[in-house]
Amino acid sequence: MQLLLGFLFAILIATLAYRAHSLNKSGAIAATFTGTIIFGIGGWQWAILLLTFFITSSTLSRAFKKRKQGLDEKFSKGHERDAGQVFGNGGIATAFAALHFFFPNEPWPWLGFAAALAAVNADTWGTELGVLNPTSPRMITDLRKVVEKGTSGGISLIGTLAALAGSALIGILAASLLPVPDSVSIFFIVTLSGLAGALFDSFLGATVQAMYYCPTDKKETEKHPVHTCGTPTVHIRGWKWFDNDWVNFSCGAFGVIAALIF
Ligand SMILES: [Zn+2]
Repeated sequence: MQLLLGFLFAILIATLAYRAHSLNKSGAIAATFTGTIIFGIGGWQWAILLLTFFITSSTLSRAFKKRKQGLDEKFSKGHERDAGQVFGNGGIATAFAALHFFFPNEPWPWLGFAAALAAVNADTWGTELGVLNPTSPRMITDLRKVVEKGTSGGISLIGTLAALAGSALIGILAASLLPVPDSVSIFFIVTLSGLAGALFDSFLGATVQAMYYCPTDKKETEKHPVHTCGTPTVHIRGWKWFDNDWVNFSCGAFGVIAALIF
């Protein structure tokens, strides 16, 4: 019964998001699937955590749009999320919601779920709000190296603080929505894991993420096989299969691993 309600609620949210151009068609189908599992197995507390991530990140992607004009081409996708992005951001959280079905009385599926969402939320807040930093970001692997805004692997003070805030929001909700053994510890574990995941995301962006180059615009881009201008892009660094969706997936995974260590 709860699964059916979850399915109906997931369809409703996915349809609204599709209408609002936050999701494209494949993204809406993927969101219905992940939403059904998270709402249907977890319940309303799990739904609130997922929706907090989804609503704040979609809103931030739209806000400051003017500021980011010209930066958009650095990112491989616009603000309409597709299935790859939905699974990249929500795949691990969905897996923990499914594990809750088999271990309904254990607190760890909730902790893993929250840590994965804290990481992707921190990453999104950091990426979207980081462009507000007055100065150019620096490479996470070499802090003396100043890079152009929007460069994968670049970090800034505002971006890092925004990531911490995004993570802490999920941390507060994780500690207060469900009765957990020690809510103060849960808050700190989830918040720090989320920040660690977001920093790991930047590290991957600086090292192994597939990056391309547009010979026409003489610019580095995540876009492949063609750039926004229509020119085919050339692979310059990173693993070819390791695109932004895999980076996001690894960000969530690292958040979970950090939560296990803390
Ligand atoms: Zn171009």
